[in-house]
Amino acid sequence: MTKLTRAAVFLDRDGVINYNRFDHVKSWSEFEFLPGTLQALRSLAQLPWPIVVVSNQAVIGRGLVSQTTIDDIHDRMLRIVEAVGGRIDAVLYCPHRHDEGCSCRKPSPGLLLRAAYELQLNLAMSYLIGDALTDILAANAVGCQPILVKTGRGQEQIRLSAVQGVNGFRVADDLGDAVHWIMQQVAEHQFATPELELIEGGSTLRGLKLGKQAHEQEMSDARG
Ligand SMILES: [Mg+2]
Ligand SMILES: [Zn+2]
Repeated sequence: MTKLTRAAVFLDRDGVINYNRFDHVKSWSEFEFLPGTLQALRSLAQLPWPIVVVSNQAVIGRGLVSQTTIDDIHDRMLRIVEAVGGRIDAVLYCPHRHDEGCSCRKPSPGLLLRAAYELQLNLAMSYLIGDALTDILAANAVGCQPILVKTGRGQEQIRLSAVQGVNGFRVADDLGDAVHWIMQQVAEHQFATPELELIEGGSTLRGLKLGKQAHEQEMSDARG
């Protein structure tokens, strides 16, 4: 068994990468990058680690949006990120409704565990950036370092964290601020040692496939 030296940076989607909408992002026309996101992703891409989006998309399970539309939104998102020199290596999402009791809807850590298994990640070395306590709880459940951004639902969730006694997370203004802190941590701890595997070319495609496979698996789990 080889020692897993590869960390990842997990990103929640809504409220971190793009504007959160109270009526949900149901089409590409409703998807709007938050200010500074693309710049932040470009600098994050310098790390030799997978960048993995982990998102709750119960809009699918609720029949509000089709899986095809969600995949299309992600394809377009990835193309724009790549066009500015960034990358997202995998997009994993939970399509289930809250009442389905799946193991992948955050705060459950199922998406993180699946990514760790598929990409051979060391979760204890990894980071998760989210705007909700459910993100923080998922990260805490598997020993990832959580960062709560103030964008999206962040401000309200910080207040809620005191009430609910959720702690152990760092607060950042936005994705750019969170990425800046991670880059500093990496530099200080020299995590980016040569033994870390570099992500091979084509990982984005592989990642996308992973996202879809994972999703199909979940859908069949949900049906079965
Ligand atoms: Mg969110
Ligand atoms: Zn799920």
